[in-house]
Amino acid sequence: MRDFSDDHSALALNTATLGHNLDGFGAGWSPEQVIDACAARGYGGITYWRRELDGRAQEIGDKTRAAGLAVVGLCRTPFLTGPLALPSDQEIMDDFHLSIDEAAALQTSVLTIVSGGPEPGTKGVLESQKLLADRVARAAPYAAERGVQLALEPLNPAMGGNRTCLMTAADALNVCDAVGVDNVGVAIDVNHVWWDTSLEQTLAGRGEGRVLGYHLCDWLADTSDVLLDRGMMGDGVADLRALREAVENTGYIGFCEVEIFSANNWWKRDPNDVLDVIVDRFRTVC
Ligand code: ZN
Repeated sequence: MRDFSDDHSALALNTATLGHNLDGFGAGWSPEQVIDACAARGYGGITYWRRELDGRAQEIGDKTRAAGLAVVGLCRTPFLTGPLALPSDQEIMDDFHLSIDEAAALQTSVLTIVSGGPEPGTKGVLESQKLLADRVARAAPYAAERGVQLALEPLNPAMGGNRTCLMTAADALNVCDAVGVDNVGVAIDVNHVWWDTSLEQTLAGRGEGRVLGYHLCDWLADTSDVLLDRGMMGDGVADLRALREAVENTGYIGFCEVEIFSANNWWKRDPNDVLDVIVDRFRTVC
């Protein structure tokens, strides 16, 4: 297991931590401001959200790399199933392909998939997982041609009604198996898997070489909103070291990206302070 106590070159910022994933939140920094602030603090990389790119994906990717940072990933594909997905298969696949184009223009290798929930009119998640696998399989060759890997991210079951049909790492790996191509893997996010006592066993048995991303935050003991009240690492009850060990035991040596949705706390603070706290917590508790 890597030692980060005096080295945070593996630390990446997911810009959702500054509120950049939703309208009306955060300090509204430009990508250039984020790049400069991360570079000044020795971060290793940045993961962006599509809404920030605004037709400038290639330019933002180039600026990130010119500052010595990696473009770790892009969030995210459209919902591919469920009540929040676009109305038709054609529209879903068109936007899926567009998200792959944007990842390619950024020259990042990882595009995260948030699956979307159970399809309207169905019960449970298995039928929707089949539809998800079908849509991912149809887009995967297009992504591979552009050097993009697709990371299926299981979400906390509390979001299972409309945002996900993947509740566990095992669910995500099942869909990977069904798709059966090299450029589809999984992303492991503390917020979504911290509770899963079978995670270590699942990853040990099936995760080798298949983890494409690791996302850090903490689960607050008094979480008030399952979507927008994530905790800073060290402020909650997740066993961060054990989770990272389980991920790294699969062979993962990539970035650890901090992704904290926090409408009433961290998004209201000065981003400079947030970025400083992250460095300290990354070195001390992650
Ligand atoms: Zn995540």
